[in-house]
Amino acid sequence: MPIHSRLRPEEKQGEILREYLNIVRSFRQYLDKRGLNQRSKDEDPERRLKEFHSSILTCRGCSLYRTRTHLVFGRGNSGAKIMLVGEAPGREEDLEGRPFVGAAGKLLAQELARAGLRNEDIYIANVLKCRPPGNRDPLPEEIEACLPYLKRQIGILHPRIICSLGKFATQVLLSTQQGITSLRGKPQLYEEDIIIIPTLHPAACIYNPSWGNLLLRDLELVKRKLSG
Ligand code: SF4
Repeated sequence: MPIHSRLRPEEKQGEILREYLNIVRSFRQYLDKRGLNQRSKDEDPERRLKEFHSSILTCRGCSLYRTRTHLVFGRGNSGAKIMLVGEAPGREEDLEGRPFVGAAGKLLAQELARAGLRNEDIYIANVLKCRPPGNRDPLPEEIEACLPYLKRQIGILHPRIICSLGKFATQVLLSTQQGITSLRGKPQLYEEDIIIIPTLHPAACIYNPSWGNLLLRDLELVKRKLSG
């Protein structure tokens, strides 16, 4: 009996996704061996990220440029296989010019370490590069203006896994209106061979401490998928 027919629907979906990714990976290895993979040839993500960062430093693509202190581009290892994506910079991130340096960032660092993930395993950025005043929700026109920057970062980094932090980043990346509690912990295909694993935003876990375990569980899943 084929293995798929003995699985529950969600297991079946996971199995099909795994098989699909294995095929894409094998095909990519085949192209690499023959020097036909254009993406591998172009790889110098560090330089490309730096150049891209410089090119948008003075961006005035939406009204948030008026109130920002710094444009918060991203941080981490440009060769990382895991990319974490949050919503937008907060007050401390805006002041420092680096994402996830405030209380939510500290909680995230703690849970990443508990899940066995190291700083060099990740790159982290937000959907919006400038802070919405008072940490209000991003507006549709701000997302429309800024999302191409995140997509470009993803294109340069080409991570194996994107872990979207919270409802906002998850809905934007998956183009869905579904809530984060039903999406979290369920891997989905983002494009070609990149999977998204949605999880809770660490800031939400500060206000709901019982959610901390769910965040940890999802990060452990990310770690397993990376090794799998
Ligand atoms: S939020 Fe994005 S689009 Fe708006 S000014 Fe900042 S970098 Fe430009």
